[in-house]
Amino acid sequence: MDYAKLAELLFPDVTETPEDVEKKYPPRDLPQDAKVTRFAPSPTGFVHLGGLYQTIVGERLAHQSGGVFFLRIEDTDEKREIAGAAQKLISTLAHYGVHFDEGAVIGEDGNIAYKGEYGPYKQSERGPIYRVYAKDLVRRGLAYPVFTTREELESLNASDKKAEVKSREWTEEFAEQQKEEMLARRNFTIEEVEAHLKNGDPFVLRVLASGDGERKVKCFDLIRGELELPENDRDEIILKSNGIPPYHFAHAVDDHLMGTTHVIRGEEWLASLPLHLQLFSYLGFKTPKYMHTAQVMSLDANGNKKKLSKRDMGASMDDYTRLGYAPEAVREYLLTVLNSNYEEWRSKNPDSPYTDFQFSIKKMSNSGCLIDFEKLEDISKNVLSRMTAEQIYSGALEWSRLFDEEFANLLEADKEKAIAVFSIGRGGKKPRKDFGRWSEVKPFVSFFYKELFKVEDAIEGFDKADIKSCLADFAGNYDENDDQNTWFEKIKQIAAKNGFCPDMKLYKADPSAYKGSVADVSSFIRVAVTGRLNSPDLFTVMNILGKAETIDRINSFKESL
Ligand code: GLU
Repeated sequence: MDYAKLAELLFPDVTETPEDVEKKYPPRDLPQDAKVTRFAPSPTGFVHLGGLYQTIVGERLAHQSGGVFFLRIEDTDEKREIAGAAQKLISTLAHYGVHFDEGAVIGEDGNIAYKGEYGPYKQSERGPIYRVYAKDLVRRGLAYPVFTTREELESLNASDKKAEVKSREWTEEFAEQQKEEMLARRNFTIEEVEAHLKNGDPFVLRVLASGDGERKVKCFDLIRGELELPENDRDEIILKSNGIPPYHFAHAVDDHLMGTTHVIRGEEWLASLPLHLQLFSYLGFKTPKYMHTAQVMSLDANGNKKKLSKRDMGASMDDYTRLGYAPEAVREYLLTVLNSNYEEWRSKNPDSPYTDFQFSIKKMSNSGCLIDFEKLEDISKNVLSRMTAEQIYSGALEWSRLFDEEFANLLEADKEKAIAVFSIGRGGKKPRKDFGRWSEVKPFVSFFYKELFKVEDAIEGFDKADIKSCLADFAGNYDENDDQNTWFEKIKQIAAKNGFCPDMKLYKADPSAYKGSVADVSSFIRVAVTGRLNSPDLFTVMNILGKAETIDRINSFKESL
């Protein structure tokens, strides 16, 4: 076979050689050991937790080594492309603190723009580049065309070929038949090709597999170590009839030209690694380092681990937004899952930015990452407890604007008050861990707002007349200028006057001698003012509410008894 002639027949319009293309993609000028990583999603509009998980790895490895992290849009499968999906992806990741240096970005007009010298960063715009390399493979006898008719192509597109083969039982007989078909496809003459081209028949390009499925090839994965996988013995399609490659060929060409040093991707690609290594070798490219991240798992109703599917709660990043998780908390959780020593580092460095942590590939686990909402909630409470009142205010406001307009309006109407509320118990060595999600803020602070206040708890086991009398005494003596000591002394006096023991020690020694203790009197006031038996520091609460509202609440509670 005259391969040079075949290449010319198939790609008469391709005049560039791989060397010409290489010149346009010079090696990157980066410090030694700098890592170049990328995220390469299909623009489906769905941002999966597993995607965020991968981008955190890529972002950390690139930025902590002085490298580059870029975004490539893999839109070769037109069926899956959804308008606005890339914008959504970029803004969702940015929300979680994942920013790209290069590739697809959101331009000033809100549309997708591209930044960087190694583009195009959208695969559908890279057709001419792929064709240069495809032609070169044909010229060297490493790829060949398979012609179809338009009708065949249409029926091929209509049925999902992959699913068909997968669901069929893979018998030896079937494998044998496949092999024969494959070998038959390799057999053709230049004259046949010429006749097809003359006829305008479309063709796909297949790589000539040189492997033997019975033999193993050694592969190396930075997370999993050395692996032995069956050699590639299948002539996979590397160029579809529209001239655009499926994933495998595009991966090799793009990651080579764009200078990717570390390919971080989901473990579903592991089985294709021998094919990729074969393509890199045919193309004469240096192989990047591979990291196949573990799949995100969840627990099913019976407590068994299962792959977190797209439909499961917690798969889409929209779920976390809706549930009210702060992006910082989700990121913190994922870092804990990703690096086994992160949690320990965090407990020693509670206030350091996460970027101070030295992310390490060695500390990554290759078993499935289990999404554990209890743990996420715990981490979230810690993260929120370390935020300033101002950060809590803006986080809660941003969430409420989307999901609870009434509360957003209340927060906005009096920012100073909200900041005072969120300042309670904040800033010290042991900050309060009141809420783990923005959606929990409102129920926690609702009693501060007249519009939301209601009495939720009841006082049990005391005489109504005693409660009323204590409350009346408190209201009659309340002075908003008292300091906390004076305020509490007054409560003690009211307790004593009404037959409640003002001193807890004395009370515990002989409880039957009293109607109750000063703690009980405080709880009468607490329920009247906050509607709850548990609340943050009552003195501070009253200061925030102001005298009029405090007295108002005490009087209406008294009347309700
Ligand atoms: N487009 C592929 C995917 O979404 C990219 C895999 C990769 O990162 O190489 O799975």
